[in-house]
Amino acid sequence: MEFPVFKTKIPGKEKKFDLNDPAEVQKYFDYKAGEEIAKIKKYLEKNTFVAYLLGKKSAGKGTYSKIFTTIFGADKVGHISVGDVVRAVDEEMADPKKKKELIEYLKKNYRGYYSVEEIIKSQEDRGTGKPLLPTEYILALLKREIAKMPRKALFLDGLPRTLDQVSYSLFFRELIGFRDDPDMFILLQVPEVIIDERIKTRVICPKCHTPRNLKLLVTKTAGYDEKEKKFYLQCDNPECNLARMVTKEGDELGIEPIRERLTNDGKLIEQAFSLYGIPKVLLRNSVPVKDKDSVDDYELTPEFVLENLGNGKVKIGQRPWIIKDDEGVDSFSLMPQPVAVSMIKQIAEILG
Ligand SMILES: [Zn+2]
Repeated sequence: MEFPVFKTKIPGKEKKFDLNDPAEVQKYFDYKAGEEIAKIKKYLEKNTFVAYLLGKKSAGKGTYSKIFTTIFGADKVGHISVGDVVRAVDEEMADPKKKKELIEYLKKNYRGYYSVEEIIKSQEDRGTGKPLLPTEYILALLKREIAKMPRKALFLDGLPRTLDQVSYSLFFRELIGFRDDPDMFILLQVPEVIIDERIKTRVICPKCHTPRNLKLLVTKTAGYDEKEKKFYLQCDNPECNLARMVTKEGDELGIEPIRERLTNDGKLIEQAFSLYGIPKVLLRNSVPVKDKDSVDDYELTPEFVLENLGNGKVKIGQRPWIIKDDEGVDSFSLMPQPVAVSMIKQIAEILG
């Protein structure tokens, strides 16, 4: 299974944008997909859609619905992550009044092979090595969540999660009363090397929790720890006073702990790819070196290189980042924005 390379380069024109600058990003989208954006905006005035986001864990699915929401407005677009919804229920369970309300809701809206009492028990035991929560329960929770955002186009992240759930998602829009509003699968293909590198080098500000990456998304200033022989980034947020960004425990292992999950996610994407009848948006965030002419140079993710100059000074440089994709082909990784351009164009086409 190989997704086509999407051409984002506009022939004959030479225009450059700084994709790390939000003001320029807006101009970039107008330039690259202005027509499609106008078309989708008009569509969203009166209509909605449901999009199922499928990609491997940590492939950055949330990024694309976030970009879409920034362009089209939070009043028109909603993002629902199944993981977040289930975690929010943990909090409800701690509040007796809310727990009672949830049970009442389930008694009216849940149908399945386990009793509501058993369901509540498995929610409480969650994460203790027990099997995944039953799909019928997840669907009831999603229905409740979706009812909170009427008349919004929806990005669903986390359904389907298993092969069984693929069929459920085919009929889910009827279940939530979206009637004839279009639904679609958005399939995201990211080489595992990229996921691995992103996890290994990601850091977070201990004060404001801004995520950055030592290799792929740096801050303005960095430092070098002579004792640990390691570079570190310093938070750009003025309130954080150059706080030293830190690595979360376990991240140095990269994809090793989630390898099985990634394999299953890969099977899920292949299953969804083979479906008939439902429109599919195919996104790939890597482009083979030989197809480099399909994109502009500034759309490629550079690799940042830190250099210790001594006296507490660190120089931040950059160079092209070349990786092997899952087929072993030398490739560049794309910035999220060109992948979003490809998504916007394909969605515009589906919405007609
Ligand atoms: Zn900070």
